Formats: sequence, C-alpha cells, structure tokens
Amino acid sequence: MYQMSNPVMENSASDVEGDQSSQPPSTPRAVVNRPQTPITPLKSKFPCDWNDWKWQIKQRIRSLSQLVSYLPSLKDNQAELESVIAKYPMAITPYYASLIQKPDASDPIFQMCVPQAEELFNPPCLSEDPLEEHEDMPVPGLVHRYKDRALLIATTTCSAYCRHCTRKRIAGTKECTISARRLQQVTDYLLSHPEICDVIISGGDPLTMPTNVLETILAAIRSVESVQIIRIGTRVPVVLPMRITDELVQMLRKYHPLWINTHFNHPNELTEEAATACEKLADAGIPLGNQTVLLRGVNDDPMIIEQLCRGLIRIRVRPYYMYQCDLVRGVEHFRTPLSRGIEIMEYLRGRVSGIAIPNFVVDTPHGGGKIPVMPNYVVSMSPTHTVLRNYEGLIVNYPEPGFQGVPAAVEKQGQAGGVWELACGRSSVIGPGEANRGQRRRNIIEKGKKTPKFEHSYLFDL
Ligand code: SF4
Repeated sequence: MYQMSNPVMENSASDVEGDQSSQPPSTPRAVVNRPQTPITPLKSKFPCDWNDWKWQIKQRIRSLSQLVSYLPSLKDNQAELESVIAKYPMAITPYYASLIQKPDASDPIFQMCVPQAEELFNPPCLSEDPLEEHEDMPVPGLVHRYKDRALLIATTTCSAYCRHCTRKRIAGTKECTISARRLQQVTDYLLSHPEICDVIISGGDPLTMPTNVLETILAAIRSVESVQIIRIGTRVPVVLPMRITDELVQMLRKYHPLWINTHFNHPNELTEEAATACEKLADAGIPLGNQTVLLRGVNDDPMIIEQLCRGLIRIRVRPYYMYQCDLVRGVEHFRTPLSRGIEIMEYLRGRVSGIAIPNFVVDTPHGGGKIPVMPNYVVSMSPTHTVLRNYEGLIVNYPEPGFQGVPAAVEKQGQAGGVWELACGRSSVIGPGEANRGQRRRNIIEKGKKTPKFEHSYLFDL
C-alpha cells in the first residue's frame, strides 16, 4: 500500500447552501459547484500507475490503518469502525478515494465508501437477504425468479465495497469467482430451461474479473442458444473507470447483444474518466443504462437527481431505475421515506426530457420483484373518459375509443365545472390559473383556437 501524506484538510466547501439540518427534508438543496481539488492529490503522486486498473485494485484502501492514514479525522472512531469493517468489508480504490472532497459524512462519496458506525444499527424490519434471492436459486449463485430471466452471481469481489450494497451479505466477505464446475451447472440449467432468454451477470462486480475469466463466463452463456441477451451489472465505470480498457471492450463486443447497467448515484461521480469509460462501451455498441439507489444525505434531493440524470445522458448512459433502498441489514441510515422518491419524480416530470427520467421502483421484500411507483397522474375514470393531470396541475380528459358524444367544450379559465364534468365529457380541461403556460392557454381559449393553425413555415423556407 502506498504511503499517503497527511491530507490537506482546508477543503471544506459544502455542496449545499445553508444549514441543511434546519431545512425540512422536502426542501430541494441548491447544488453549487464543488471545488475540484481532492483532499490529497493522489493522481499527481502516482502519475505512472494511476491509469492501470490492476494497480488501482492492488492499492485499494482495505484496512483501518490505511483509511486513517488517508482520512486522519477518523482516528477517534477507530474502535467502532473496526467492528464495522469486520462485519462488512471495506475497499476503496485510490481513484474513488480521490473523489472525496470533505472528510465527513456530508460528502456523498465519503458516505458511499467509508464505513460508518450506523451500519451496525439494524431495526427488526431489515434482513440479510430481503429479496430472498437465496430462495430462488436452483443452482447456487443463479437466481431464477422471473420466468424469462436469470441473474448469475459470478463473483463476490468488487473494486470498492459500497456501504449501501444490497448484497452486503456476500460482497467482499470472501473475494472469489465462480468455479468451472459451478459454471457448468449454470450452463446445464440454462440449457434445460429454454424459457430463459435474458441472463444478467452480476456479483460482486463482474468487471473486476480478469478479461479471460469474464470471457469464459460470457462464452458459456452465449453457447446456450435460447439466451438472447446478456446483461452485465457493474459499478466499475464509477469506481474504477480505467478498467474499461480497449482489450476488455474488444472482448465484450464479441458477445452481442450485450447490455450494461452502471450504478452512478451522484453527479460528483461523473468525472472525465467515467465519461471516457462509458464512451468506450457505447462506441462498442453496448447500450448503457444506469441504476441509481436513493440514499439519504447522498442524493435524496430533486436537484441532485436532476443533475445526475442530465449528466448521465451527456455521457450516453440512459437513467433506467431509481431504486428505493432495499430493507437490507446495515443500510438503515441510508433509507429515505418512499414519499421522497415520489416527490423527486414529481419534480423531474415536465422539467427533464423523458429519456433522462428513470423509473422509480421498490424491489419488494419476499422476492416480490420491482414495483414502479410514481405520482398519481390518473385523477378519475368513467367508461367514456379518463381524467389525467399533468405536472403543472392541468386536468384534462382523454376520450376513450368509441366515444361518440359531442366533443367536450373548452371552458374559460375558472368556469369549468369539476372533475365529474371532465369524466363524463362535458368539459375537457381545468387549468391551474398560475401555471407558467396559463396565460398562453387562456389566449388560445379566448380566441376559440382549440387547435392552433399549422404553419408550413415551421418546416420550410417558403
Ligand atoms: S459494486 Fe455492486 S455488488 Fe459491489 S458493493 Fe457496490 S453495490 Fe454491492
């Protein structure tokens, strides 16, 4: 392990304005630009090795003494942290450590990788395996829950151990990779279950495996004709982006159709290195999605998620899921109320392009699977009309197919009846008077222009 000099601790700029503790949880925190200076300029200390992913893995911060040498402010917490690490292993790549800008839990990167005493606080509703993956394993390591999909835990190793990990029960407890015998059992199971057409390689982090080992697994799965797509779940582009080498990408592209889901949680993770890694994968024709976990004090804020989602599409990663934190032992301090996620979704819709809006899902206990949760947009229904509301609060009706009635009247602002009139088609809209686009709508209604005239000059220079 390298010897690190005492960190320079003067960098205490917060990413949020004002005293957060005095604000109600639903107040969006204004994100201000963070200074880009890390606590210790690790990269400049190791310019030759920095981009070597194997060096990064070897030099991970794994022990308490290494951690305290990097973050001396933790020296008074050593006793409690020792017991946390004994239960839930720690690993932080030098690259990811270099993204910490403030050596305490107000820093999102710190929160996600530095062990905290709260991990040992477990209310009874939490369990080691809340998704009951173990119960759905016909072959050890292969989770077969949905008929057409299976998930393979191919390794228990990660380059960094996320404190919020949903598989804390296995990640890093013993760093190992699937054996040849087990892989054969998995292949045999897939061969005897042709209904499985989608296999997700997960872990641990599959991209921590040597390229040839990963290729053996990919080739075995690809040899099963009924498997149509292979997906890889990885946090490597976030915590070890230099692992996305040309050699790896050349190998991956042989196994199309191949999809990759990454795991970015905060805009501070969207570095140039991460962007380069994602670009290489995208250039190899691999569609990239992102699975974010909503984490208290890290990203449970509409503006932070907006920044993250906008940043992701810039680096060619589609926000796919935003997860409610699972009921896993050791993550209680990260859990947010479900209402927080709904509030974030309410904020995103109408502000951000649809391609940048993830699905908010709860992966339910007892292996219930993912349930999408969102604000209520359906206000009412009748056999002839469904009444919907948009992000502004505009309430409109949608006539069902076969409705033969008279087209609904567009009421003047403030003169529509109520939701019932919309549901039975007597009027078509109730508008919020103060919405930004309210005046434009009022003008259209007053001019009797239900449908604006189509101007050819929109498209052609006449
Ligand atoms: S990389 Fe994934 S499996 Fe590994 S610790 Fe993080 S969340 Fe868990």
